[in-house]
Amino acid sequence: MRILLANDDGIYSPGIHALADCARRFGEVRVYAPDVEQSSMGHAITHSRPLTIKQTPFGNLEAWRVNGTPADCVALGLNAWGGVDVVLSGINLGTNLGNAAWHSGTLAAARQAALLGYRAIALSTPTGEAEPNFAQIEPYVARVLELLLEDRTLQLVNVNLPRSPVGLCWTRLAIQHYDGRVVPGEDPMGRRHFWLTVKPIEEVEEGTDRWAMRHGMVSMTPLRLDLTDDEMLMKAKERMPVESSMESDRHHSAGRSHRSGM
Ligand code: MN
Repeated sequence: MRILLANDDGIYSPGIHALADCARRFGEVRVYAPDVEQSSMGHAITHSRPLTIKQTPFGNLEAWRVNGTPADCVALGLNAWGGVDVVLSGINLGTNLGNAAWHSGTLAAARQAALLGYRAIALSTPTGEAEPNFAQIEPYVARVLELLLEDRTLQLVNVNLPRSPVGLCWTRLAIQHYDGRVVPGEDPMGRRHFWLTVKPIEEVEEGTDRWAMRHGMVSMTPLRLDLTDDEMLMKAKERMPVESSMESDRHHSAGRSHRSGM
């Protein structure tokens, strides 16, 4: 099995080294990761300058550092290495729960693989004052890989591992409460500045990724690429019928105003 590794914390993050140590038991591993941290870059891709990749030491694995975004790394890696079976992204230093799915670079790397038709898994774990204890979560990382690498049907899965897991759980994204917050401050010159940060969320819905993590469970959320709101699409078609071309729309309005005598 060919396993391509990426992340958004950069190729020197302890998280991607912990993931590589675990993933190599399941197949041949290669690493394509950003040369510097690219957290919260979301699904940005680089289009206005050329990208370079440089081979870099990484245990005895083949590894390449890229001067681009997480999505760039996966696009370049899949282009360079043929026959990849699955892309793993992480392990991120910091959770990626609920609405974070929109700005997470970790998840974007996995999603880029899914967009290109590959299976992909994003993995994240909380961080704080101390770095995550990867030895402590390793058995659960291995269990997740055992389950998800064997399964050929799930295309994109977002996995979050608590500090001391007690079990595993299938979940959905917690999107009811957004944790983003703008905090104003002042620089040493007295000028106003702002931090985009997160606020703790107290309410959690059962069955969500946040709920699982709060109960010490490893959260596994299958995701889809199609963002279309099917229900709203149907309702919009019903409530606001539109002509399929502006040309026929003009004729239609002309006809209607003629008939109504306006
Ligand atoms: Mn990160």
